Amino acid sequence: MKVVEPLIFEMSAPGRQAHSLPECDVPARPLDELLPAGMLRESPANLPEVSEVDLVRHFTRLSQLNHGVDTGFYPLGSCTMKYNPKVNEWVARLEGFVDLHPYMPEELVQGALKLLYDMERYLCEIGGLARVSMQPAAGAHGEATGLLIIRAYHQHRGQGHRKKIIIPDSAHGTNPASTTMCGYRTVEVKSDERGGVDLKDLERTLDDEVAGLMLTNPNTLGLFDENIHVISKMVHEAGGLLYYDGANANAVLGISRPADCGFDVVHFNLHKTFGTPHGGGGPGSGPVGVIEELVPYLPVPLVEYDGSRYYLNYDLPHSIGRMRSFYGNFNVVVKAYAYIRALGPEGLRRVSEDAVLNANYLMAKLKEYYWLPYDRICKHEFVLSGKRQKDRYGVRTMDIAKRLLDFGYHPPTVYFPLIVDEALMIEPTETESKETLDGFIDAMIQIAREAEEEPEKLHQAPHRTPVGRLDEVRASRFPNLRYRREE
Ligand SMILES: *Cc1c(COP(=O)(O)O)cnc(C)c1O
Repeated sequence: MKVVEPLIFEMSAPGRQAHSLPECDVPARPLDELLPAGMLRESPANLPEVSEVDLVRHFTRLSQLNHGVDTGFYPLGSCTMKYNPKVNEWVARLEGFVDLHPYMPEELVQGALKLLYDMERYLCEIGGLARVSMQPAAGAHGEATGLLIIRAYHQHRGQGHRKKIIIPDSAHGTNPASTTMCGYRTVEVKSDERGGVDLKDLERTLDDEVAGLMLTNPNTLGLFDENIHVISKMVHEAGGLLYYDGANANAVLGISRPADCGFDVVHFNLHKTFGTPHGGGGPGSGPVGVIEELVPYLPVPLVEYDGSRYYLNYDLPHSIGRMRSFYGNFNVVVKAYAYIRALGPEGLRRVSEDAVLNANYLMAKLKEYYWLPYDRICKHEFVLSGKRQKDRYGVRTMDIAKRLLDFGYHPPTVYFPLIVDEALMIEPTETESKETLDGFIDAMIQIAREAEEEPEKLHQAPHRTPVGRLDEVRASRFPNLRYRREE
């Protein structure tokens, strides 16, 4: 366990500095000759004066205060915080990639175009799709792209009156948000007692206003909807399309393909499933793929190969247009490409099998201590509930999450999905050893005991972190990032 030191931010001392530059040998010109008077400062900038060693220690210390996949277990459900192989960083930093400029002519970027082209083939194979666009910058951006494709498809067929998108009550918040942003109305469909789409309730929502249904499978409960073929038939018969939120694809690589299950539009979260670093706002990558019938609506440009050279194709008359400048977050695509190439088809399947095994191991060990609302084999994640602890001892899921920090673990996703009271959504990923999983199990069992014997300890947690409970909303809405020297 790290020793917690007090956080010192004020280290400035007058005259101290981190640089030593030679005397300027160019005659100095008065500043007001160089800049208009109105643009000149009236007093010196209020900057910290610190030595190089102070500067390095300050930022190194700050970087160590952050919990990351490189520092510890990070079972944040739905986010797939797997280990990110460092060799992929090296690949993405190769000069041939980082020195490219998006305005370079096609003949000078044949390697980069080939990478995009090959990556598209891999994602087509993984999803069972006809074509994939690498443009969307994240999953949510992929959702917007996919919904615009669905809209363009309906409009083109004279079905522009279709304004409803059906979304299960277990869905991620970005699904209804993207729906609204694309001018659609969200209609919620209930989950049944097994955690899948309630088919009776789905029946109720289907009419000729339906544009499509968005589904995550396995869903945010970590449960695979075995009725997917029935759902697909029902939605398609009503004239709607099926959208696959691929955030949970880590459970199904090489095992089931979304298009084979009836999905028409699919997004991948390269930053989740394919091992590229994410969190804190990006960068991500959310490629969108479609079945043959929807290819004409994909964003432009698509990367094509004519047998001797790769080129960018802007000639898609029905395209929804551009979704992002240039060609997407290319650097993230490079890392995901390296990840896929390193593992190969068998390796990817093994990723999912191990992710599912790890989740079921944790679930089986913990269900004695916490309520498990959907008690059946899970996929790559599962949802426990802190309801027992709340009802009996007044300990909330937030208390449990905060106490986990004292053991050096990042807490699971909490209070989501919304349909589970006091939810704790746990996704261990495939990259963790049995020892790490056992350590986490022990911590969770100890916390269950503490809830019973010393609940106050949990209300006060965390005890060993540099800061305690923060106003998280305020911290993210009004971040105070500006240095001001104390007078
Ligand atoms: C993460 C996630 C998204 C959004 O993806 P981003 O890449 O974060 O925009 C959508 N749906 C589910 C189920 C997710 O877990």
